[in-house]
Amino acid sequence: MQENYQQLIELIAKSSGTSVEEIERKIEAKQAKLSGLISKEGAAQVIAAELGVNFDKQLIKISQIVQGMRKINLIGKIINLFPIREYNKNGRSGRIGSFVLADDTSNIRTVLWDEGHIDLIEKGQIVDGGVVEIINASLRNGELHLASFSEIKPSGQVIENAVTKRPVFKKTIVQFNPNDNVSVRAVIVQIFEPRFFEICPECRKKVSEVGECATHGKVSPEKRALLNFVIDDGTESIRAVMFSDQLEKIMTMSELDNSELFGVKKKEFLGKEMMVEGNVRKNQLYGNNEFIISGISEVNVDELIAELEK
Ligand SMILES: [Zn+2]
Repeated sequence: MQENYQQLIELIAKSSGTSVEEIERKIEAKQAKLSGLISKEGAAQVIAAELGVNFDKQLIKISQIVQGMRKINLIGKIINLFPIREYNKNGRSGRIGSFVLADDTSNIRTVLWDEGHIDLIEKGQIVDGGVVEIINASLRNGELHLASFSEIKPSGQVIENAVTKRPVFKKTIVQFNPNDNVSVRAVIVQIFEPRFFEICPECRKKVSEVGECATHGKVSPEKRALLNFVIDDGTESIRAVMFSDQLEKIMTMSELDNSELFGVKKKEFLGKEMMVEGNVRKNQLYGNNEFIISGISEVNVDELIAELEK
Protein backbone atom coordinates (compact mmCIF):
# COMPACT_ATOMS: atom_id res chain seq x y z
CA MET A 1 0.00 0.00 0.00
CA GLN A 2 2.86 2.33 -0.86
CA GLU A 3 0.52 4.58 -2.86
CA ASN A 4 -1.95 4.65 0.03
CA TYR A 5 0.83 5.77 2.37
CA GLN A 6 1.61 8.68 0.06
CA GLN A 7 -2.07 9.63 -0.02
CA LEU A 8 -2.23 9.49 3.77
CA ILE A 9 0.74 11.87 4.07
CA GLU A 10 -0.97 14.26 1.68
CA LEU A 11 -4.17 14.06 3.72
CA ILE A 12 -2.28 14.82 6.96
CA ALA A 13 -0.49 17.70 5.22
CA LYS A 14 -3.74 19.18 3.93
CA SER A 15 -5.62 18.77 7.21
CA SER A 16 -2.82 20.25 9.34
CA GLY A 17 -1.54 22.96 7.01
CA THR A 18 1.96 21.45 7.13
CA SER A 19 4.06 20.62 4.07
CA VAL A 20 4.45 17.04 2.85
CA GLU A 21 8.24 17.30 3.32
CA GLU A 22 7.83 18.42 6.92
CA ILE A 23 5.48 15.52 7.66
CA GLU A 24 7.88 13.02 6.09
CA ARG A 25 10.70 14.45 8.20
CA LYS A 26 8.58 14.15 11.37
CA ILE A 27 7.69 10.53 10.53
CA GLU A 28 11.34 9.61 10.03
CA ALA A 29 12.28 11.30 13.29
CA LYS A 30 9.49 9.47 15.12
CA GLN A 31 10.57 6.12 13.68
CA ALA A 32 14.21 6.81 14.61
CA LYS A 33 13.20 7.79 18.14
CA LEU A 34 11.29 4.52 18.54
CA SER A 35 14.22 2.56 17.09
CA GLY A 36 12.18 1.30 14.16
CA LEU A 37 9.64 -0.40 16.45
CA ILE A 38 6.84 1.41 14.64
CA SER A 39 5.97 1.12 10.95
CA LYS A 40 5.93 4.30 8.89
CA GLU A 41 2.15 3.94 8.57
CA GLY A 42 1.95 3.76 12.37
CA ALA A 43 4.30 6.70 12.79
CA ALA A 44 2.20 8.71 10.32
CA GLN A 45 -0.86 8.18 12.50
CA VAL A 46 1.04 9.26 15.63
CA ILE A 47 2.22 12.41 13.84
CA ALA A 48 -1.33 13.09 12.63
CA ALA A 49 -2.56 12.91 16.24
CA GLU A 50 0.29 15.21 17.38
CA LEU A 51 -0.73 17.74 14.73
CA GLY A 52 -4.32 17.57 15.89
CA VAL A 53 -5.56 15.78 12.78
CA ASN A 54 -8.43 13.63 13.96
CA PHE A 55 -9.31 10.85 11.56
CA ASP A 56 -12.07 9.72 13.94
CA LYS A 57 -14.40 12.34 12.55
CA GLN A 58 -12.98 12.61 9.07
CA LEU A 59 -14.27 10.89 5.98
CA ILE A 60 -11.44 9.31 4.03
CA LYS A 61 -11.06 7.81 0.58
CA ILE A 62 -10.44 4.10 0.07
CA SER A 63 -7.02 4.86 -1.43
CA GLN A 64 -6.01 6.57 1.83
CA ILE A 65 -6.58 3.50 4.01
CA VAL A 66 -3.33 2.09 5.37
CA GLN A 67 -2.38 -0.98 7.38
CA GLY A 68 -3.24 -0.74 11.07
CA MET A 69 -5.84 2.01 10.65
CA ARG A 70 -8.79 1.94 13.04
CA LYS A 71 -11.94 4.05 13.19
CA ILE A 72 -12.19 4.39 9.43
CA ASN A 73 -15.08 6.57 8.21
CA LEU A 74 -16.02 6.65 4.58
CA ILE A 75 -18.76 6.80 1.97
CA GLY A 76 -18.83 4.29 -0.84
CA LYS A 77 -20.99 2.52 -3.38
CA ILE A 78 -21.70 -1.19 -3.09
CA ILE A 79 -20.60 -2.61 -6.43
CA ASN A 80 -20.93 -6.30 -5.58
CA LEU A 81 -23.17 -7.55 -2.80
CA PHE A 82 -22.47 -11.17 -1.86
CA PRO A 83 -25.06 -13.55 -0.38
CA ILE A 84 -25.17 -13.66 3.43
CA ARG A 85 -23.22 -16.67 4.70
CA GLU A 86 -23.63 -18.65 7.87
CA TYR A 87 -20.69 -19.97 9.83
CA ASN A 88 -20.31 -22.49 12.59
CA LYS A 89 -16.80 -22.69 13.90
CA ASN A 90 -15.32 -23.73 17.26
CA GLY A 91 -18.76 -23.74 18.88
CA ARG A 92 -19.52 -20.23 17.67
CA SER A 93 -22.06 -19.57 14.98
CA GLY A 94 -23.47 -16.56 13.25
CA ARG A 95 -23.83 -14.79 9.93
CA ILE A 96 -21.44 -12.81 7.78
CA GLY A 97 -22.42 -10.17 5.25
CA SER A 98 -19.96 -8.92 2.66
CA PHE A 99 -19.67 -6.71 -0.38
CA VAL A 100 -17.19 -4.77 -2.45
CA LEU A 101 -17.30 -1.08 -1.62
CA ALA A 102 -16.03 1.45 -4.18
CA ASP A 103 -15.42 5.18 -4.33
CA ASP A 104 -13.74 7.34 -6.96
CA THR A 105 -10.25 6.23 -5.85
CA SER A 106 -10.38 2.45 -5.37
CA ASN A 107 -12.46 -0.40 -3.96
CA ILE A 108 -12.24 -2.74 -1.01
CA ARG A 109 -13.87 -5.93 0.21
CA THR A 110 -16.01 -5.13 3.23
CA VAL A 111 -17.18 -7.61 5.86
CA LEU A 112 -20.13 -7.21 8.27
CA TRP A 113 -20.23 -9.20 11.52
CA ASP A 114 -23.04 -7.45 13.38
CA GLU A 115 -26.50 -9.06 13.20
CA GLY A 116 -28.12 -5.60 13.11
CA HIS A 117 -26.06 -4.63 10.07
CA ILE A 118 -26.78 -7.92 8.32
CA ASP A 119 -30.51 -7.35 8.95
CA LEU A 120 -30.22 -4.14 6.90
CA ILE A 121 -29.19 -6.27 3.92
CA GLU A 122 -31.96 -8.76 4.56
CA LYS A 123 -34.58 -5.99 4.79
CA GLY A 124 -33.33 -4.47 1.54
CA GLN A 125 -32.15 -1.22 3.14
CA ILE A 126 -28.61 -1.95 2.03
CA VAL A 127 -28.65 -2.99 -1.62
CA ASP A 128 -26.35 -3.74 -4.52
CA GLY A 129 -25.55 -0.44 -6.25
CA GLY A 130 -26.53 1.57 -3.16
CA VAL A 131 -24.34 4.21 -1.53
CA VAL A 132 -23.59 3.79 2.18
CA GLU A 133 -21.86 5.74 4.92
CA ILE A 134 -19.65 3.68 7.21
CA ILE A 135 -18.37 4.87 10.60
CA ASN A 136 -15.76 3.19 12.79
CA ALA A 137 -14.64 0.36 10.54
CA SER A 138 -11.18 -1.18 10.86
CA LEU A 139 -8.73 -2.72 8.43
CA ARG A 140 -7.94 -6.40 8.78
CA ASN A 141 -5.87 -8.31 6.22
CA GLY A 142 -6.59 -5.68 3.61
CA GLU A 143 -10.35 -5.89 4.17
CA LEU A 144 -12.68 -3.43 5.84
CA HIS A 145 -14.37 -4.98 8.88
CA LEU A 146 -17.46 -3.69 10.68
CA ALA A 147 -18.06 -4.83 14.24
CA SER A 148 -20.98 -4.09 16.58
CA PHE A 149 -19.51 -0.68 17.50
CA SER A 150 -19.34 0.27 13.80
CA GLU A 151 -22.17 1.97 11.96
CA ILE A 152 -23.52 1.59 8.45
CA LYS A 153 -26.41 3.46 6.88
CA PRO A 154 -27.67 4.38 3.41
CA SER A 155 -26.28 7.70 2.16
CA GLY A 156 -27.88 10.23 -0.17
CA GLN A 157 -24.55 10.98 -1.77
CA VAL A 158 -24.00 10.19 -5.44
CA ILE A 159 -20.78 8.45 -6.46
CA GLU A 160 -20.20 9.07 -10.14
CA ASN A 161 -16.95 7.35 -10.99
CA ALA A 162 -16.82 4.31 -8.73
CA VAL A 163 -13.59 2.44 -9.41
CA THR A 164 -14.72 -1.12 -10.16
CA LYS A 165 -11.36 -2.53 -11.21
CA ARG A 166 -8.88 -3.08 -8.44
CA PRO A 167 -5.86 -0.91 -9.06
CA VAL A 168 -2.68 -2.93 -9.41
CA PHE A 169 0.28 -1.58 -7.49
CA LYS A 170 3.93 -2.20 -8.13
CA LYS A 171 5.51 -3.49 -4.96
CA THR A 172 8.45 -5.47 -3.66
CA ILE A 173 7.59 -8.85 -2.12
CA VAL A 174 8.57 -7.72 1.39
CA GLN A 175 5.83 -5.03 1.12
CA PHE A 176 3.07 -7.53 0.20
CA ASN A 177 -0.01 -7.45 2.43
CA PRO A 178 -2.94 -9.91 2.27
CA ASN A 179 -5.52 -8.96 -0.41
CA ASP A 180 -3.07 -6.70 -2.23
CA ASN A 181 -3.44 -6.64 -5.99
CA VAL A 182 0.13 -6.24 -7.09
CA SER A 183 2.64 -6.69 -9.84
CA VAL A 184 6.28 -7.47 -9.21
CA ARG A 185 9.40 -8.20 -11.22
CA ALA A 186 10.89 -11.36 -9.74
CA VAL A 187 12.99 -14.41 -10.49
CA ILE A 188 11.51 -17.91 -10.49
CA VAL A 189 13.73 -19.71 -7.98
CA GLN A 190 11.87 -22.99 -7.52
CA ILE A 191 9.27 -24.94 -9.51
CA PHE A 192 7.28 -27.85 -8.05
CA GLU A 193 5.67 -30.75 -9.91
CA PRO A 194 2.36 -29.81 -11.59
CA ARG A 195 -0.86 -31.00 -9.99
CA PHE A 196 -3.93 -32.07 -11.93
CA PHE A 197 -7.64 -31.97 -11.22
CA GLU A 198 -10.89 -32.19 -13.16
CA ILE A 199 -13.66 -29.63 -13.51
CA CYS A 200 -17.28 -29.70 -14.68
CA PRO A 201 -17.57 -28.22 -18.21
CA GLU A 202 -20.86 -26.52 -17.21
CA CYS A 203 -20.03 -24.70 -13.97
CA ARG A 204 -16.20 -24.90 -13.95
CA LYS A 205 -16.25 -26.36 -10.43
CA LYS A 206 -14.13 -29.29 -9.30
CA VAL A 207 -15.73 -32.69 -9.84
CA SER A 208 -15.53 -35.68 -7.47
CA GLU A 209 -13.07 -38.53 -7.94
CA VAL A 210 -15.64 -40.47 -9.97
CA GLY A 211 -16.20 -37.49 -12.28
CA GLU A 212 -19.47 -36.23 -10.83
CA CYS A 213 -20.41 -32.59 -10.39
CA ALA A 214 -22.35 -31.69 -7.25
CA THR A 215 -24.82 -29.70 -9.39
CA HIS A 216 -24.71 -31.35 -12.82
CA GLY A 217 -24.18 -34.99 -11.90
CA LYS A 218 -22.30 -37.24 -14.32
CA VAL A 219 -20.37 -35.07 -16.79
CA SER A 220 -17.33 -35.49 -19.02
CA PRO A 221 -14.89 -33.49 -16.96
CA GLU A 222 -12.15 -31.26 -18.35
CA LYS A 223 -8.62 -31.72 -17.13
CA ARG A 224 -6.95 -28.74 -15.50
CA ALA A 225 -3.53 -28.16 -13.96
CA LEU A 226 -1.97 -25.95 -11.35
CA LEU A 227 1.65 -25.19 -10.75
CA ASN A 228 3.29 -24.09 -7.51
CA PHE A 229 6.56 -22.22 -7.61
CA VAL A 230 8.61 -19.76 -5.61
CA ILE A 231 9.53 -16.27 -6.79
CA ASP A 232 12.14 -13.93 -5.29
CA ASP A 233 12.74 -10.26 -6.05
CA GLY A 234 15.72 -9.76 -3.77
CA THR A 235 13.64 -8.44 -0.87
CA GLU A 236 11.96 -11.73 -0.01
CA SER A 237 10.57 -14.86 -1.61
CA ILE A 238 6.95 -16.00 -1.80
CA ARG A 239 5.19 -19.17 -2.85
CA ALA A 240 3.08 -18.58 -5.93
CA VAL A 241 0.34 -20.64 -7.57
CA MET A 242 -0.75 -20.49 -11.18
CA PHE A 243 -3.88 -22.14 -12.57
CA SER A 244 -4.56 -23.50 -16.06
CA ASP A 245 -5.86 -20.29 -17.65
CA GLN A 246 -2.57 -18.51 -16.92
CA LEU A 247 -0.38 -21.58 -16.96
CA GLU A 248 -1.35 -22.52 -20.51
CA LYS A 249 0.04 -19.19 -21.72
CA ILE A 250 3.55 -20.39 -20.92
CA MET A 251 3.26 -24.18 -21.31
CA THR A 252 0.84 -26.60 -22.93
CA MET A 253 -1.14 -29.32 -21.19
CA SER A 254 0.97 -31.99 -22.90
CA GLU A 255 4.17 -30.34 -21.68
CA LEU A 256 2.77 -30.34 -18.16
CA ASP A 257 1.64 -33.93 -18.41
CA ASN A 258 4.91 -35.38 -19.72
CA SER A 259 7.77 -35.46 -17.22
CA GLU A 260 10.46 -35.20 -19.92
CA LEU A 261 8.84 -32.21 -21.66
CA PHE A 262 8.06 -30.65 -18.29
CA GLY A 263 11.74 -31.01 -17.34
CA VAL A 264 12.71 -28.98 -20.42
CA LYS A 265 10.18 -26.24 -19.58
CA LYS A 266 11.30 -26.21 -15.98
CA LYS A 267 14.90 -25.63 -17.06
CA GLU A 268 13.77 -22.80 -19.32
CA PHE A 269 11.93 -20.95 -16.53
CA LEU A 270 14.15 -21.59 -13.52
CA GLY A 271 16.24 -18.50 -12.82
CA LYS A 272 14.23 -16.45 -15.28
CA GLU A 273 13.04 -12.97 -14.39
CA MET A 274 9.34 -12.37 -15.10
CA MET A 275 6.70 -9.71 -14.53
CA VAL A 276 4.16 -11.39 -12.26
CA GLU A 277 0.75 -9.97 -11.40
CA GLY A 278 -1.69 -11.36 -8.88
CA ASN A 279 -3.46 -11.28 -5.58
CA VAL A 280 -1.84 -11.86 -2.18
CA ARG A 281 -3.75 -14.33 0.00
CA LYS A 282 -3.13 -15.40 3.52
CA ASN A 283 -2.91 -19.18 3.77
CA GLN A 284 -5.39 -19.90 6.57
CA LEU A 285 -3.67 -23.15 7.51
CA TYR A 286 -0.08 -21.95 7.73
CA GLY A 287 -0.58 -18.22 8.24
CA ASN A 288 1.91 -17.30 5.52
CA ASN A 289 1.21 -15.25 2.41
CA GLU A 290 0.71 -16.85 -1.01
CA PHE A 291 0.57 -15.21 -4.39
CA ILE A 292 -2.28 -16.21 -6.72
CA ILE A 293 -1.07 -15.39 -10.23
CA SER A 294 -3.45 -13.61 -12.61
CA GLY A 295 -0.87 -12.63 -15.20
CA ILE A 296 2.68 -13.51 -16.11
CA SER A 297 4.87 -12.14 -18.86
CA GLU A 298 8.49 -11.81 -19.83
CA VAL A 299 10.27 -8.68 -18.69
CA ASN A 300 10.05 -6.07 -21.41
CA VAL A 301 13.49 -4.45 -21.34
CA ASP A 302 12.40 -1.42 -23.39
CA GLU A 303 9.51 -0.68 -21.02
CA LEU A 304 11.83 -1.10 -18.07
CA ILE A 305 14.33 1.40 -19.43
CA ALA A 306 11.55 3.87 -20.23
CA GLU A 307 10.33 3.57 -16.64
CA LEU A 308 13.78 4.06 -15.14
CA GLU A 309 14.26 7.17 -17.26
CA LYS A 310 11.01 8.71 -15.97
ZN1 LIG B 1 -21.30 -28.51 -12.77
